[in-house]
Amino acid sequence: MTAKKPFEHFLKNLRGAADVAGLSPEGLAALETPEHIHQTEVEFALDSGEKKKVPGYRVEHNSARGPYKGGIRYHHEADLDEVKALAALMSLKCAVVNIPMGGGKGGIQVNPKELSESEIERMSRAYFRWGTEEGIFGVNRDVPAPDVYTTPQVMAWMLDEHEKVLGYKSPGVITGKPLELGGSLGRSYATSQGGFFVLMKYLEKLNKVPGETTVAIQGFGNAGAYFAEIAHKAGFRVVAASDSKGGVACDVDSDSFDVRKLSEWKKAAGSLRGNFCEGKSCDMEMMKKEHVKIVSNEELLEMDVDVLVLAALDGVVHEENADRIKAPIILELANGPVTPEGDVILEKNNGAVIPDILANAGGVTVSYFEWVQNRSGDVWEEDYVIAKLRKIMEHAFDDLMKVRDENDTSLRQAAFVLGVQRIATAMKLRGTIANDK
Ligand code: NAD
Repeated sequence: MTAKKPFEHFLKNLRGAADVAGLSPEGLAALETPEHIHQTEVEFALDSGEKKKVPGYRVEHNSARGPYKGGIRYHHEADLDEVKALAALMSLKCAVVNIPMGGGKGGIQVNPKELSESEIERMSRAYFRWGTEEGIFGVNRDVPAPDVYTTPQVMAWMLDEHEKVLGYKSPGVITGKPLELGGSLGRSYATSQGGFFVLMKYLEKLNKVPGETTVAIQGFGNAGAYFAEIAHKAGFRVVAASDSKGGVACDVDSDSFDVRKLSEWKKAAGSLRGNFCEGKSCDMEMMKKEHVKIVSNEELLEMDVDVLVLAALDGVVHEENADRIKAPIILELANGPVTPEGDVILEKNNGAVIPDILANAGGVTVSYFEWVQNRSGDVWEEDYVIAKLRKIMEHAFDDLMKVRDENDTSLRQAAFVLGVQRIATAMKLRGTIANDK
């Protein structure tokens, strides 16, 4: 497996799109450099009473189009390089779907699985208190949301801490909140629903219908499991899914899973594979009855399916395995699951990657809806939210295809070009960069 260098990957993609986008050297330099990097040591008490300090970050990449927007991640690999890359991708993502927000990202470098719930609460409050007192977070300045291992409950603690510091209510400072505290209907599955809308548009172009389309999904968490459910309901043939412990696939070629069963298995055993196997010993009778075979994560990636959905980690398709990927379409629900080197190989093999900055932008789009609702004191109905999401995702897809066709680029490059052009226009209008090439 290649070493992860997420910000370098971002720069490679940015520089690759700069010429096609007509970006000036001054514009390129602006997008290569985050506007602000905030760092702290988050100090909180463990249940034992002992104090613990962990590194905390908030990177604000670009605000030409609106307040910074982007999640907060709790992960032992969430270092500055990763947070910088994710912040930059958020700027482009918001521009691709044309919502009036900039890009930011936060992270605490910690393994949350080693902390109790009350320790996570104290750490979350300490982080958000720091960001509020420093003037970083604010409804018109920088609006965070959940990301890996942060939940609506974590958002609720952070909101509460922010409002304690301010002394008044400001629900729009953070999105992905529980409904009771101003969260939006539809937010929980918005990322998967948005990805589904763009996949449907892409398949329409190929005259492919769901009933004839097989799907394998890497990652059965929030994004992957909701996507499986939505795709299954629409008639797609979901033939394999995996989580961090491994995966399950249908043992008969013509078969597909009833996705409700996958969710039941995951719930019952904590992992898909765990429903059938303990260590190396597997219940063959049960597997036969359910038409299941066990697959590793590598095997799932290399399955002969029509659509491979990447909904787990970054960097999973790279120079060492891209040649073995058979799926002609990859949908990136995760952030950065294909490395630039992997991209080159997939493109050579005529693989189409529907890139993260479009495919998973449904989450930030409904986060933006939540911010709008909080600022206006309104509560939108779920159907209205999803219809609005659909319009935005389909427009973005059409805009992206136009750029691709005009410039004969990959879908990823077209998405970068579209995002970069929109941000550059905003920077020129503000006078941040000169209005010539
Ligand atoms: P999650 O923690 O809910 O789920 C992640 C899933 O990936 C889990 O099922 C986990 O078991 C699985 N996984 C971990 N390691 C794996 C491995 N080696 N192989 C296979 N599966 C593995 O997280 P999520 O919210 O679903 O996010 C997944 C990805 O989607 C992340 O990259 C995240 O940044 C991106 N994303 C999520 C949202 C959202 O709204 N949830 C929005 C935009 C982007």
